[in-house]
Amino acid sequence: MQIFQPQEVLVEPGSEASPIYRNLRAALPGVPFRVVDAATAESDKTNVSARTFGVAKERLFLTRHKGKFLKKCPGSEGQVCCNYFVINFASNCPMDCSYCYLQEYLADNPGLKVFSNVEDLLNESDELLSKHRRFFFRIGTGEITDSLALDPYIGFAREVVPFFADQPNVLLELKTKSDCIDGLLRLDPKDRVVVSWSMNPQRVIDLDEYQTASLSERLAAARRCQNAGYRLGFHFDPIVEYPNWQADYEQMLGQIFSNVDWRRIAWLSMGVLRVTPSLKRIIRTRFPKSRLLTGEQVPCPDGKLRYFQPLRVDMYRRMLGWIRRAAPTVKVYLCMESKEVWEQVFGFAPSCEKELGNQMVPSF
Ligand code: SF4
Repeated sequence: MQIFQPQEVLVEPGSEASPIYRNLRAALPGVPFRVVDAATAESDKTNVSARTFGVAKERLFLTRHKGKFLKKCPGSEGQVCCNYFVINFASNCPMDCSYCYLQEYLADNPGLKVFSNVEDLLNESDELLSKHRRFFFRIGTGEITDSLALDPYIGFAREVVPFFADQPNVLLELKTKSDCIDGLLRLDPKDRVVVSWSMNPQRVIDLDEYQTASLSERLAAARRCQNAGYRLGFHFDPIVEYPNWQADYEQMLGQIFSNVDWRRIAWLSMGVLRVTPSLKRIIRTRFPKSRLLTGEQVPCPDGKLRYFQPLRVDMYRRMLGWIRRAAPTVKVYLCMESKEVWEQVFGFAPSCEKELGNQMVPSF
């Protein structure tokens, strides 16, 4: 996949002593680094309109995170939630998918940022995990950034994987559309780390997932991670409907299951394309050639637009059928879907988010 080369790295005073700064310096020898005061950085970060959102991805800002690192995944109102926690170690993403919700979510603060105070992140995680040893946590880092796309430059994985690998009550999920896994291969995940990929057929990647790894690059990376002892996850999200989508998705699932051992897959998730009216406007402005929005979508109780419910159910059932043919007992869940849809697809709906969260814990 394309190498990330920011035009410059802006550094907030105080961040120069961090391991992330040292890793960046070593990985980007030809890139200018500029120490800026907080006020300059703030105006640099925010001086970006929706039309030029992509500009914000061209500069990297290294700063301290001022608030809490760990949060419960916000989920979506009225939809079944899977009781997941997120760590935001960075904000925004060097890749550029047309449907990315960050275009709306980070519209007022789109700077590509990495947080330098990883020791605070680890202290906070340690406090939570040791206080609730009887509770099993699933924690992911890919909510407002991609978990691994920046890893060759910032070396975040080697700062945190050894800590999480030693915890008895957590699975750390690193979710990506990249193939930046070399830094992981030298570490021992001790069965506590899931590396997961968002997957789409190459046709969707070509049209709507700019600067991401190709399908074959993602599969090769997944195979290497599995061989290095990592559990895997795959997220079919967003599933996109277009003429003959069935053939492409069925073929993609065949490729996945012929490349990796499904018994070492921690979980699969499915979610159809969903956009808010405001994200729809952004997509039309930034990606006028995208054909994502040509199909019919209807408003749902959480304010998002999705395909008409019978179509969604049909898409999920077909996907599930192709999955079950190859991997009869692999864990599959729906992301941001209603109980009604769950029942039609699986014949049941989890009674609460805790139940679904517990179901997702793999056996060790
Ligand atoms: S890889 Fe994920 S975070 Fe990055 S642009 Fe695509 S959807 Fe957004």
